[in-house]
Order: sequence, then C-alpha cells, then structure tokens
Amino acid sequence: MKESSIADLNLALKKKDFSSVELTKFFLKRIEKYNHDLNAVITTCDEAALIEAEKADTRIAEGNAPDLCGIPILHKDIFCTKNVLTTCGSKMLANFCPPYNATVVENFERSGLVTLGKTNMDEFAMGSSNETSYFGSVNNPWALDCVPGGSSGGSAASVAARLAPAATATDTGGSIRQPAALCGVTGIKPTYGSVSRWGMIAFASSLDQGGPIAKSAEDCALLLNCMASFDPLDSTSIQNTRPSYSEKLNKTINGLKIGVPKEYFSEGLNSGTKDVVEKAIKTLEDLGSEIIELSLPNSSLSVPAYYVIAPAEASANLSRYDGIKYGYRCDNPKNLEDLYIRSRSEGFGEEVQRRIMIGNYCLSSGYFDAYYKKAQMVKELISQDFKNAFDKVDVLVGPTCPSPAFKHGTKNDNPVEMYLEDVYTIAVNLAGLPGMSIPCGRVDRKPVGMQIIGSYLNEAIMLQVAHQFQKHTTWHKESPEDFV
Ligand code: GLN
Repeated sequence: MKESSIADLNLALKKKDFSSVELTKFFLKRIEKYNHDLNAVITTCDEAALIEAEKADTRIAEGNAPDLCGIPILHKDIFCTKNVLTTCGSKMLANFCPPYNATVVENFERSGLVTLGKTNMDEFAMGSSNETSYFGSVNNPWALDCVPGGSSGGSAASVAARLAPAATATDTGGSIRQPAALCGVTGIKPTYGSVSRWGMIAFASSLDQGGPIAKSAEDCALLLNCMASFDPLDSTSIQNTRPSYSEKLNKTINGLKIGVPKEYFSEGLNSGTKDVVEKAIKTLEDLGSEIIELSLPNSSLSVPAYYVIAPAEASANLSRYDGIKYGYRCDNPKNLEDLYIRSRSEGFGEEVQRRIMIGNYCLSSGYFDAYYKKAQMVKELISQDFKNAFDKVDVLVGPTCPSPAFKHGTKNDNPVEMYLEDVYTIAVNLAGLPGMSIPCGRVDRKPVGMQIIGSYLNEAIMLQVAHQFQKHTTWHKESPEDFV
C-alpha cells in the first residue's frame, strides 16, 4: 500500500484486494508513527475518515463508485473543511472551523476520497521553507535538519514520507513546485482558473491556484481530473469543460520541441542542481524530443514584480481579519482601535505583517502608479515572453529551484534570499500558465526537481513529458529510508 500508485490503489479497491477502511487505517497509523519527526500534519480526522471510508466501501460494493473512490488524501490547511479546523498556518485562525467545504474538498468528497487530515504550511502561504507556520516548522523527510520548502511544505513532506498517497496544495509563486522539488515528489500548478479558489483562503487572488502533490505525474493527472472544475462561485473560474488530464500520458515525446530558457541556468544556480537537471534534459533528448535553447528576456523582473503584486493583493485580502467577525481577538481591548491593532499585531506573524506593510505602501496614493501599475506592466512583458517561446516549442524545462533543501534557520534573517527560492517559478504564476515539478536526481542525498512549463491550458502535453520521463527513470519511486 505504501508505495502503490493511485492508479494501482484504485484498481485494488475495485478488485476488493483490500478495503478503503483498511487503506485509511494504514495511512492514519503511518501519520501517528512518523508525524512527530516531521510536523507535516497538524490535524487528523481519524473518526470521520473511517466513516467516509466505510461509505466508500459501500459504494464500491454496490458497483457504482466513481474513479478514486476510497483513496485517502490530506488537504493543505488553506482549504476550508466543514467542521474541521482550518488554520492557514496562523494564530489568527487557530480556532477557525469553517461551516462549509472548499470546492476542491467538495469535489474530492463527492468522488468518495477520504480526508485523512490537514497539512502544515507557511502562515497564509507566505514563505518558501514552512518556517513561518504558527504551528512550527516542518522537517524534510530526506534530511530532518533541512526545510521541506514552502508554503505547501506539509503536503510535500507528507507525500514524500508516504503518510498519504496524495495531498492538495496551492501555488501563488511556487508553493506547489518548490516543496515538491525539495521533497522529491511530483506537484502541479494548473493554468490559473482551472481549479476553483472558492473556500481556498486567499493570499494573492490573481495568482493563487490549487493543485495536487503526489508520487507521479500519472497520479497527479488522475487527481486533477477530479479537482479541476468550472465553479460559478469563483468569478475567475474558466468556463469551458476540462479535458482529461490523462489523455496524452502514453504518447511518445518523439519529435516534441522542448525549450530550455538560458536565463534559468545563469549565475545563482547550484552547480550540483545544474548537472542533475542537464542530465534529465539529456534523457528527454534521448527519448526523441528536440531540445531548443531560447530566451525569456524579462525573467529577472519576475521576482520584483511579484513582490509588489502579491503583497498588494494580500494586504487587501487580509484586511478581513479584524478581530471582530472571526479569528483571533486580543484580550481586554481598551477600545475599538486597540482591539483592531492588538488583534492584528498578535494574530499575524512577522512575515505576514511585513507583506501587509509592503502591500499597503505600494497601493497608497502617490505610489500606486510607481509600483503596482508598473508591476502589472512587467507582468504583461513576462506573459509576452512566454507567448513568443510557445510559438517555437511545446513545453519549457529547467530547474524548479536554485538549490536542494537548505538547513533550518539559514535564510530567515534575509527575506530577499528566501524570496529568490522562487526565481524560476514565479513567472509562471504571473503569466497564469501551468507548471509542474518532477524529481529528476539528487545532490548529497537530497532531491532535485525539474520544472516543466506548459502553454495556456496545455497541461496534457506537460504531463505527457513528465510521464514519459518517469516511465524511463525511477527517481519518483524512491522514498526516504527513515520512513519504512
Ligand atoms: N514563496 C513565495 C511567497 O512567499 C510563494 C508562496 C506561494 O506560492 N504561496 O510568496
């Protein structure tokens, strides 16, 4: 059960090799046994999970169960789960039990997937190391003294240590792909608007996108088939029906044109990571694809533009946490103003407060044109770079992040160094494109991820490249020895 793919688990459940109750108990036991080493899961739903699993078994016995019915899953604690604590990694929401499910959670529960619990994350998804969580940092299963990446560090670490076959995650600037890379698992950020944001706690609404983390591209495609949907409750949800994300998996990549942006291999890239990714690209070439070097000339502007747009939107989104309606409220406020100030100062951590201040500054009168409007113009330039590239190639590939997992505490004093973790991922969010990370080797035992970027709504080709790579390599099948 531990190493099985979701496709295999699905088949075994349908053939009744084991029940969903047995499978659910198996993963709940693994969480109980290993989570204290990792701190990846912050809430478990033991009783409710077994009830859901029993229901799934009944549907399977009746012969009308949909795909994935009975498969256990963890949800990032950014997705609202009805009557289950949803904290977003913050003291502000430490006691928040939403009265409804996020659409993503609803889609999975409707198909009979079993919610095992909720995963740890950077506070309000702001971070690249999972060290900003109010609930403590997460350890990387490959090296416990290192970070798992962030903000979806709990989801990536859980899948890497096989605490669940899959987990949901979100990506505003790299938070699915970067932790997936650092933990040696596969993660996808779909085209903006493919997966509903309803009930997914907002960070930067024009960039936030949910997606799956699992062991392989094939598993991610199966999960995405269930996760992505048009949702009238999300005004930016794409209206057309989603194609099957699995449809091209088994097509050869012979003849496909694969672009390699030269900016993704410049100074700042760890030499071990560079070697591993170059070798992986060679594998794609050996499989018959044509490798074409090209340029995304405005790449260097993506991090500065993001750190104007994302904090600006965050400062507006986070203004709802005022200590009045819900969330944390300070003790003994002297008056209304004191209540607002102290509730927000005590309820939000340092990084969140930093973003709120940057965001308010960029949006304030006199600065709006200089910062926010400029950043929006840069966003256009970056989108245009990608459009030009996709006139020539089918997908783009490169490293997911500049180096493998780093030690806890090493980048905390320098926010800019931490922000550069997403130097290769952020542009994809600014352009609204699909991107994914797959494990492609290791440096000093620590996993390295290869990023694959698709053109707008072209997840299928991106998944095809990933799956063909995984058919001919075994990196995605490896798991850390300490979690037997
Ligand atoms: N690391 C980036 C940030 O801190 C991206 C986070 C994310 O994608 N949620 O903003």
